[in-house]
Amino acid sequence: MSPVPALVDGFGRRVTYLRLSVTDRCDLRCTYCMPEHMAFAAARDRLGVDDLYTIAGAFIAGGIRKVRLTGGEPLVRKDLPALLERFAGNLQRGELDELVVSTNGSRLAQLAGTLVGSGVRRVNVSLDTLDPGQYREITRGGALADVLGGIDAALAAGLKIRLNTVALRGVVEGQIDALLRYAHGRGMALALIETMPLGDTGVSRLGQYLPLDAFRRQLETRWTLTASPARSGGPASYVEVGETGGLLGFITPLSCNFCAACNRVRVGSDGRLYTCMGHEGSVDLRPALGVGGAALDAAIRGALRHKPERHGFRVAATGLAGGIGRHMSVLGG
Ligand code: SAM
Ligand code: SF4
Repeated sequence: MSPVPALVDGFGRRVTYLRLSVTDRCDLRCTYCMPEHMAFAAARDRLGVDDLYTIAGAFIAGGIRKVRLTGGEPLVRKDLPALLERFAGNLQRGELDELVVSTNGSRLAQLAGTLVGSGVRRVNVSLDTLDPGQYREITRGGALADVLGGIDAALAAGLKIRLNTVALRGVVEGQIDALLRYAHGRGMALALIETMPLGDTGVSRLGQYLPLDAFRRQLETRWTLTASPARSGGPASYVEVGETGGLLGFITPLSCNFCAACNRVRVGSDGRLYTCMGHEGSVDLRPALGVGGAALDAAIRGALRHKPERHGFRVAATGLAGGIGRHMSVLGG
């Protein structure tokens, strides 16, 4: 049998990383992610475990080596363990290098053991502040103690953790030192993410936006930052913090575009394939479900030929421009 050709986009970029959103729903309402009264997709549009796995399987057959389960909040999906079990087989057979999860951590204490048992070794946990009141405000009701308890449980279960911190102007400046000490004191990396103009959240994007190139120069006045070769298979570029020995990542879609090296595609919980988070376009993979692996493979390769060269997010005098209507919670980053 001749080997399956690699998944390659129209710009010659090899696609090896699938981000699979298992639900757009969430138990939090972070101010940079969604509005307080979010309209979620209808339950009938959410694919079941079998269909989600069939789609993911077509990507794995095409040479995807890493899958990230995300959302919304993936750990609120009740049948997530059944999906994890399927991927565990791919990991055992060497068909996948890594299965990773992005979570807000609120249910991590309950599910850390299940994740480890399915072969998950690394999770990203969102954490923007260590102040319980500020956390409640940013997440519109979340309890910091749940996340910190979840992180402790995940570390005890043997998971490696990277904290994801959205660089929120007016928050991150006051929190970063404590967050670095907290993360690095527990052997966790921390990544700062520039806020992106995805969907209306009822809160000013420009007011929240802090360019990370300038913030990094501020950090260098009190921390010793040395460029690190560390990579996590995504868009973060890392420095090592001399005082703690830990890693700090910068994810800079606006201040420093990283699209030239993009290796990722995303599938929503409704079975739509998005070849770029920063564009509205998507291809519905559902019609190919049930037709057979060849139809899915053809739909995926057809969509990849039209993967955009780059997103259009940029900073303009009037606000963050190039934004799109879809909220971050549909695809999960
Ligand atoms: N619920 C999970 C969580 O919070 O980690 C997974 C989904 S969440 C949408 C994935 C990541 O996107 C989180 O780290 C979150 O902080 C980040 N995020 C959400 N909205 C964003 C935005 N508008 N710009 C930049 N990052 C955003
Ligand atoms: Fe939920 Fe994650 Fe969005 Fe916060 S960032 S509202 S936790 S999906």
